[in-house]
Amino acid sequence: MITVHTLGTGSGKPTPERNVSCTAVFREGELVLFDCGEGTQTQIARSQLRPGVIQVICITHFHGDHINGLPGLLGTLQLNQRTEPLTVIGPKGLKQYLQTLSRLNILGVGYGLNLIEVTEPGVVYEGNGYAIATERLRHRVPCWGYRMFEPPRPGKFNLEQARALGVPAGPMFGRLQRGEAVTLEGGEQIQPEDVLGPARPGLALAYCCDTQPCDGAVRLAGGADLLIHEGTYGPGEEKLAHARGHSTMLDAARTARDAGVRELIITHISQKYTRIEGFAKKVREVFPQAHFARDLNVFELKYNA
Ligand SMILES: [Zn+2]
Ligand SMILES: [Zn+2]
Repeated sequence: MITVHTLGTGSGKPTPERNVSCTAVFREGELVLFDCGEGTQTQIARSQLRPGVIQVICITHFHGDHINGLPGLLGTLQLNQRTEPLTVIGPKGLKQYLQTLSRLNILGVGYGLNLIEVTEPGVVYEGNGYAIATERLRHRVPCWGYRMFEPPRPGKFNLEQARALGVPAGPMFGRLQRGEAVTLEGGEQIQPEDVLGPARPGLALAYCCDTQPCDGAVRLAGGADLLIHEGTYGPGEEKLAHARGHSTMLDAARTARDAGVRELIITHISQKYTRIEGFAKKVREVFPQAHFARDLNVFELKYNA
């Protein structure tokens, strides 16, 4: 299972109701952050998450509401005596930005920083049981969306078939389930495919922020279990939204529908909206499984089968 924590769900500037952009994904004891707006550390402290387990930080673009929290967080990890290396992925200019802070002595980190500048779409990072791919979005400055995905999982174990083939209950069951061949006492080899059903897909989620509707977002989110997409403006404000390189909540729903995802979380919501409940009906007419993020919401992403 994966849990998704919407730490900051507002656009532009932080308010007491909504912090600026950061979404954390917790998987197998590791954290991946998508964007790191100002106040991200405080939001992590308010959540059940621990900053020490952050492995990767993915920055979409260099607007302040997506990156201003990065130096502070990196500095805190140093104060916490981190020794493990940390990966930061972002647009071209990321290295220059962090090196400048370091040269000015604003930032000093003793742990290894693995900095990856994205220059073209595709897989940019391979982690422990998952990978991260990118795709170009359409915003006022160069902006990358991210897809975090697991490889396919082994198929379902067919207990009756294993028994019929003479596999004794015990450790051999586990080895077959993990995809290893086993040899029976009589010397006969049993292959995992003899007792496993077809491979099942791993979990996949996409993060698209900030963008106006674009093919890149649909491609990136294609068939994912979850799409986290910006919806800065309410339905009906498409003209204004697109002129500013943003999406409305309806645009987010259309992208989710076109990409064939299971669930949608709408985030990066303009601070001018104090109540968004009124938008839900229109949005869910386009995509029924739409959720409107609030700060510190936790969303569980479970396997379909
Ligand atoms: Zn933004
Ligand atoms: Zn932006």
